[in-house]
Amino acid sequence: MKNIDLSLSYSLLEKCCKLCTHSLATPCSLFIECLKKGPLCHEDAVCQSKKEQRRDFLLEKTPQITYVTIGMGSCGLAAGAKKVYNFFARQIKKKDLNVVLKETGCLGLCSEEVLVRIKKPNQKPIYFGNVNVERAAEIVDLYIEHGYTPEGYVLGDLTAKNPNVEGPIKLDRLEPFRKNYAQRVVMKNVGIIEPTSLEEYILKGGFEAFNHVLKSEDNFIEEIKDSGLRGRGGAGFSTGEKLELFAQENGPKVVVTNCHESDPSAFSNRALLEGNPYLVLEGLIVAGLIGGATKGIIYLKPSYTLAYTNIKRALNILEEIGLLGTDILGSGFEFQVEIKLSSGTFVAGEETALIAALSGKRPMPESRPPYPCHRGLDDRPTLIYNCETLANLPSIIVNGAKWFRNIGSKNSSGTKVFSLSGKLRRIGYIEVEFGALLREIIFDYGGGIKDNKTFKAVQIGGPTGGFLPSSLLDIPIDYETLKELGISLGSGSIVVLDNESCIVDITRFNLEYMSKESCGRCIPCREGIYRLLELMETIIMRENQNDEDSSLKRYQVLSQLEKLAKVISDTSTCGLGENVANPVLSSLRYFKEEYEAHTFRKQCLARQCKGLLDYKIDAELCRGCTVCVDRCPEGAIVGERKHSHFILQDKCTRCGICLEICPFEAIVVS
Ligand code: SF4
Ligand code: SF4
Ligand code: SF4
Repeated sequence: MKNIDLSLSYSLLEKCCKLCTHSLATPCSLFIECLKKGPLCHEDAVCQSKKEQRRDFLLEKTPQITYVTIGMGSCGLAAGAKKVYNFFARQIKKKDLNVVLKETGCLGLCSEEVLVRIKKPNQKPIYFGNVNVERAAEIVDLYIEHGYTPEGYVLGDLTAKNPNVEGPIKLDRLEPFRKNYAQRVVMKNVGIIEPTSLEEYILKGGFEAFNHVLKSEDNFIEEIKDSGLRGRGGAGFSTGEKLELFAQENGPKVVVTNCHESDPSAFSNRALLEGNPYLVLEGLIVAGLIGGATKGIIYLKPSYTLAYTNIKRALNILEEIGLLGTDILGSGFEFQVEIKLSSGTFVAGEETALIAALSGKRPMPESRPPYPCHRGLDDRPTLIYNCETLANLPSIIVNGAKWFRNIGSKNSSGTKVFSLSGKLRRIGYIEVEFGALLREIIFDYGGGIKDNKTFKAVQIGGPTGGFLPSSLLDIPIDYETLKELGISLGSGSIVVLDNESCIVDITRFNLEYMSKESCGRCIPCREGIYRLLELMETIIMRENQNDEDSSLKRYQVLSQLEKLAKVISDTSTCGLGENVANPVLSSLRYFKEEYEAHTFRKQCLARQCKGLLDYKIDAELCRGCTVCVDRCPEGAIVGERKHSHFILQDKCTRCGICLEICPFEAIVVS
């Protein structure tokens, strides 16, 4: 344990001896290089050895040590990672194992959490999925102590090209993550390193871009423009051009990273912020340095509590070590960062609403121009980038524009991180090159449709995103292709629907959600969403028999839906109103037969719209057991014991309880 003790007791952020001059008062300009290769300012065998041992330890190269890393992002914690972590900690202590326990963020395999990565000396790291305390006990006993791999829940080795040949692992469920278009640029270290360890971040190449920008005269704006990087928050505007406009402005300026992630089905920004806060902070500082700003703001969703904790901790460490503040590393450059919480509403992520929120006002969008990069927060030029956009900057600065352009497709360079959810076997995030086929994302990375059902549609971009049918599964995912189809990339959420999902009902659900999110400024958006919702509700219910006009209203719905959706899109001020009707328009375009079935035949093909379902009792199958009579909350079932029962249609609310509980499967839904 000697190596461990020594390596644990020293940090590369500390002085190695009295000869090290780095402090807040006297910052050393070589601090980052020294951490990776030092000591640089003096020759001392003891310092050299101490630093090297620590570096080996952090890079998991210390001989005889087994490293156990637990996924403790939000998804891991929800799956019980804390318990698993504590169990490992107790076992290590009790058995006096040569094991070091670490925490990390989400690797992208949320449905496999709790995820445990184990790196034994001189072996490749392997991953175990769905680990609970019982499995953790087996891992300690079988794998750590006796070298036997319990195959049932080993996922594989993320780095191996062909694990069946190279390693002992036959079962490799990580294989899709090494396939074709999978490429980790932004998420490279997420789920690998300790999120708030500045030492690990720097040893893995962190702050190299910052160091370069601080000390070089290169034209970084041209480099970023040449890279073709575009905003990852939805609009896809050129990052370099925006930075150029901002840099041309004078006076005090601000850079804001928008980490609001409005879309409730998106979680990749959260995973990034939780798993590698330093990367976003480095991107923010670099943008400030290039653009001539001295202040940075992290604009965060209040529900992202773990992200807040990790960013706050990272900020404190950067301030303590002198990588934030005044005269950073003796360069004269000043940069301060603070975290501001958004209101949490959908529209609070819109650029001008964000400015209003940061000014202490209600987050309501304003019409543009002026654009925030000319006049924004407190009338100062304000550069707003989504956090994924910022997280790309360090790699571009270190590797160059050409390297970045070689990733992705012609007009959409680089990668995009997608949040995968819905009816998929594998839920999580995946970072792929632009140009990856939608089919690959869904079937390779998402594992296809769960429960032996079939693919029906995919919704890209959250509740204001559009639906695509199976005939478009082979499109490449990039800005241009989606734009041609009238769909915005949005925040990169992909929600997959199976054959038992009703497009009409899901569209209605999106509208219901968004009706509460309009800020109310524009009448078409504020009132129009409610009218769209009313129209949708007209066709998912049977008409009121006492209302003579109801049939006529029903038949008018389809044309009214389309007209109103277009008016809302064309006349709203902000992106919310412009896109809110996307689900309506795209579902009408690709799934018109479902609307027609609801409207004209009063039929929900997926049998999801309760208002169109009839619950009946099959007289042949009913034994008159009366179980359903007792459980029906509406008293809608009548009949005598041991005789067939009946459902009174005017009382039945289609709650489905009788269907679930009838022991003789006598309830028929039509
Ligand atoms: S479009 Fe909707 S959310 Fe946007 S400003 Fe108008 S009312 Fe507000
Ligand atoms: S539970 Fe089923 S079998 Fe029993 S009375 Fe109801 S419908 Fe008939
Ligand atoms: S669906 Fe619900 S309300 Fe209708 S008969 Fe069955 S239990 Fe009663």
